[in-house]
Amino acid sequence: MDISLVIPLFNEEESLRPLVDWITTVLRTHEYEYEIIFINDGSTDNSWNLIKELRQVHPNLIRAINFRRNYGKSAALHQGFQLAKGDVVITMDADLQDSPEEIDPLVRMIREEHYDLVSGWKKKRHDPFTKTIPSKIFNAVARKVSQIPLHDFNCGLKAYKNEVVKDLHVYGDMHRWMPVLAKWQGYSRIGEKVVEHRARKYGVSKFGARRLISGFLDLLSIFFVGKFNKKPMHFFGTLGIISIFLGIITLIYLTIMKLVYEVSGIQDRPLFFFGILTIIIGTQLLLTGFIAELVIDSKAKSHSYNIAEVLD
Ligand code: UDP
Ligand code: MG
Repeated sequence: MDISLVIPLFNEEESLRPLVDWITTVLRTHEYEYEIIFINDGSTDNSWNLIKELRQVHPNLIRAINFRRNYGKSAALHQGFQLAKGDVVITMDADLQDSPEEIDPLVRMIREEHYDLVSGWKKKRHDPFTKTIPSKIFNAVARKVSQIPLHDFNCGLKAYKNEVVKDLHVYGDMHRWMPVLAKWQGYSRIGEKVVEHRARKYGVSKFGARRLISGFLDLLSIFFVGKFNKKPMHFFGTLGIISIFLGIITLIYLTIMKLVYEVSGIQDRPLFFFGILTIIIGTQLLLTGFIAELVIDSKAKSHSYNIAEVLD
C-alpha cells in the first residue's frame, strides 16, 4: 500500500461524496495503491450512512471508523493512524478546503526527498480574518518555541512516513502541534509545502473562538513539556530557591530591625507579608519540582524512549 488518506469528519454530509469523487478522479491519473480511512467523529447528521453507501461503491478503497460520540479531531486522527497501512500517510480535512491535487507532490516529497513529515502551508487562506490573525500570532510563537521553521502548524493537510504516525500520541487538541510532537520523537526532517486552500462550500467550521484559548493553553504545555520535560526540577527548583532566598533575606532584615534597632510594628509592614509569602510560594515550587521529577522517573521506567532500531 502506497498511501493512506486519513480523513476525520464531524457533520460533513454534503462534502463526503464530492470529496471521494474528487480524490478518485485525481488519483486515477497516478499509479498509487491507496486507501481512504474516514473517522466519523460522532456526527449527528447523515455522514455515517453516507460513508457506508460510499463503501459499497468502493469496497476496496474505503475503510471507516464510527465514534459513538464526538471526541475531537485529535482523537479521530489517532484512531485513523492506528489503521493506516500506506507507506505515506496523508491527513486532510473532509470539508473540501484541502485539494487532493496536493497528494501527489506531498507523497513525492516524503519518498524522494526523504522527509519524515511535510506540512501544508495555506499561504493564501480563504478564512475570515478572525481566524487568520490569531493563527499568524500562534504560528510565530510556535516557530520560536519549537525551533521548527513552519508557517502553518495547524494545517490539516500533512504527509507523514508511516512510522511517524505510529509513534505520535495525539490527544486533546494536540493535532495543531503535530510537527512538534514528531520532533520530540526524534523525527527532525520536517518540510513544508505551499498548498491550495479553498473556501468552505458546505457546513460550518467546527472550531470557533474557543480555539484561541485552547490553542494558547496547548502552546503553553508544548513550551513547558518541550523545555522542562527532562529536568522539571531545574525549572521549579530554580524559581523556588530564588523565592525562598528573597523571603529569608527580607525576614532577616526585619528581624535585625526589630532586635537591634528596636523598630516597632514590623508585623504591619508590607515587607513582612512579602517575606512570608515568598517563602511559602518558594516551598510549593520546590515541592512541585519534586513531584514532577517523580512523574518523569516513573515514565522513564515504562517506555518513553523512542528506539528506532536495535542490533543485537
Ligand atoms: N473535525 C472532527 N472533529 C471535530 C471537529 C472537526 O473530525 O470535533 C473535522 C472536520 O469535520 C473537518 C476537520 O476536522 O474535516 C477540520 O475542521 P474544520 O474545517 O471545522 O476546521 P477549520 O478548517 O475551520 O480550521
Ligand atoms: Mg475547514
